[in-house]
Amino acid sequence: MTKTTKNPETIALHGGDYRSDPATTAVAVPIYRTTSYQFNNTDHAANLFALKEFGNIYTRIMNPTNDVLEKRVAALEGGLACVTVGSGQAASTFAITNVCQSGDNFISSTDLYGGTVNLFTHTLKKLGIECRYADPSDPKNFEKLIDDRTRAFYAETLPNPYLRVFPIKEVSDIGRKHNIPLIMDNTASPVICKPIEHGAAVVVHSLTKYIGGHGTVIGGCLVDGGNFDWTTDKKRQPLFNEPDASYGGAIWGEVVPQLTGANVAFAVRARVVLLRDLGAPLAPDNAFGIIQGLETVALRMKQHCSNAQKVVDFLSKHKNIDRVIYPNVHEGEIGDRAKRYFKGGNGGLVGIEVKGGVEAGKKFIEALKMFYHVANIGDARSLAIHPATTTHSQLTSDELLAAGVTPGYVRLSIGIEHPDDIIADLDQALTASSKTSLKAVS
Ligand code: PLP
Repeated sequence: MTKTTKNPETIALHGGDYRSDPATTAVAVPIYRTTSYQFNNTDHAANLFALKEFGNIYTRIMNPTNDVLEKRVAALEGGLACVTVGSGQAASTFAITNVCQSGDNFISSTDLYGGTVNLFTHTLKKLGIECRYADPSDPKNFEKLIDDRTRAFYAETLPNPYLRVFPIKEVSDIGRKHNIPLIMDNTASPVICKPIEHGAAVVVHSLTKYIGGHGTVIGGCLVDGGNFDWTTDKKRQPLFNEPDASYGGAIWGEVVPQLTGANVAFAVRARVVLLRDLGAPLAPDNAFGIIQGLETVALRMKQHCSNAQKVVDFLSKHKNIDRVIYPNVHEGEIGDRAKRYFKGGNGGLVGIEVKGGVEAGKKFIEALKMFYHVANIGDARSLAIHPATTTHSQLTSDELLAAGVTPGYVRLSIGIEHPDDIIADLDQALTASSKTSLKAVS
């Protein structure tokens, strides 16, 4: 388990140790549609179950197609190990339940995807795990909420709708002072940001978005940075320092470095305990689909970023737009974070405030001809949604404002079409929506 020095474009095609299929020499990664694997003999079987040897046992826990994807994503993120799961939601669930048990708490940024908020505020609470929310505008807010039962920090690198880049190193440094790992959801910024390089211990992805990239497959993963010692403070991380009765009394923080020579107890426990017990594996067919997307993710991210910047430049001067939200448009420290943490661009997400409020926002969406109106991000195609009337429609007007969703706010996920065509579609829709809102007023 060593880190690669190769570049993302190369890792995406050659990362991990897959060169060709050992049985057939096929170059494309085969889909291993199997539930189980023939053991060589009874000793071999016993060794695999006892983790004395690593190898395939059952596809709920591991699969050779998924293995190629896992190694490539780990290398892309600068981590040492990766576990794929059935969705991004499963990845967030596993990330927390791998470190917290009933009575524990973790501290999360307030800037989060709505599905993650539901999971953290309601479902995990019912399991006895408390989420404490910290405003990331000041990293010290995380430190203020720590107590003896705090097990992790959690945040998104590039959360929407605010699109304020998270202070990764600042919060990770605070966490490491207290032996608390930082878990980063890097779904919206693969390739352009590597949170592990800035101190994050774990990265989670919804592979459904930019890495899959074509709107065809749901998937998720957890990448272990291999840079966090789970045994330094034994009381802080009991799940890695107390014998696990479900696995012959294994102490994961000790046994995994002995077996693998690396600090990847987080990934091993997620696989052999959580995948074993909670299920939710990524199907190998879906892993194959995501591998096809992964091969071009570096190329696509360049185009997403360059197109989004052109859209930002165009819309910033447009008479029917009140405000454009993009990581490098923020002023002061928040804008500086984009420069510190992002390399090669600022992502494909753009927020806009259409002049004329809710009606103008709705009309704008309806007037778009090329953009798809969908609840997704990170597709190769350009996408748009009006949160006030869709994803956030159950919120009161105060709650909407707190979530950063103003009445005319539209979220754009800029695709990889030609930038002139993207801009032309936005321009004609803005003209159409302004005419309709003027008619409605008169
Ligand atoms: N994290 C972020 C930032 C997301 O945007 C999403 C989905 O939109 C998820 C996690 C959940 O991913 P999935 O839809 O693959 O379960």
